[in-house]
Amino acid sequence: MSAPREKDLAASLPSGIRCVAVLSGKGGVGKSLVTALLAAAFARSGRAAGILDADITGPSIPRMFGVRRVTAVEEGRMSPARTRELGIRIMSINLLMESEDDPVVWRGPLVSRAVEQFVTDVDWTGTEYLFIDLPPGTSDVPLTVMQRLPLSGLVVVSSPQELVGVIVRKAIKMAEMLQIPVIGLVENMSHLICPHCGKKIDLFGAADAGSGDDSGVPLLARIPLDPALAALCDKGDLESYEDNPFASLVESIARSLDSNGGKDA
Ligand code: ADP
Repeated sequence: MSAPREKDLAASLPSGIRCVAVLSGKGGVGKSLVTALLAAAFARSGRAAGILDADITGPSIPRMFGVRRVTAVEEGRMSPARTRELGIRIMSINLLMESEDDPVVWRGPLVSRAVEQFVTDVDWTGTEYLFIDLPPGTSDVPLTVMQRLPLSGLVVVSSPQELVGVIVRKAIKMAEMLQIPVIGLVENMSHLICPHCGKKIDLFGAADAGSGDDSGVPLLARIPLDPALAALCDKGDLESYEDNPFASLVESIARSLDSNGGKDA
């Protein structure tokens, strides 16, 4: 892999913005959900949050917030859509499609180009914290984002079975090679709260709560498998989820992002 290169896409972003990429080893582990919950927690704390949906071939952010189209173009740049309650700014390929069911059948270079345009052709003015939902794995787009955007941190999402696995270690290693600070791991669907007796059921055995794996990266949160959460995603009403696991972590995450620096800081 090449050495870290100039963060050339930074010039298109507002000054002082903190960019946070969210990565997983494979699809379906809840990476988009974690991105959405992080943005919602930051927005609820009074910080201006945005989401750049870089998962071009599997975009699910607009559906989770019930936002549909963006049409506004000001001075040649598109304005992101805004969520109903918290005003989170969102840009996603789905917001540009006739129907959200239309597939994106593009090859790699075109997909990376679309992500670039979500930085250069979208007006992110006013956004303080931009969360980037990466496609799973360590392919072209994660590499483009990690090399060319001024990232203040990376969050890695995994399911419990995957936590100690090779894929997570690969993602962490890639971040290290590109000198991107890993804020922490999020273990999703780690347990279930019995709706009848309230007892916690560890679906895949109890995990080590101290550290996500042997890399020393801290485990930020463990999110239960919660049918209420899935229902809110399907209804496009994720903003009203009351048990956001990141609500109590916003201050400390923001502190570590700020200390890592962002664009022009
Ligand atoms: P990924 O981005 O990793 O492909 P998503 O975040 O899109 O995965 O999640 C896939 C689906 O699983 C979503 O429809 C979401 O509603 C559901 N889901 C993810 N995590 C949970 C959870 N902790 N509880 C309930 N449903 C979940």
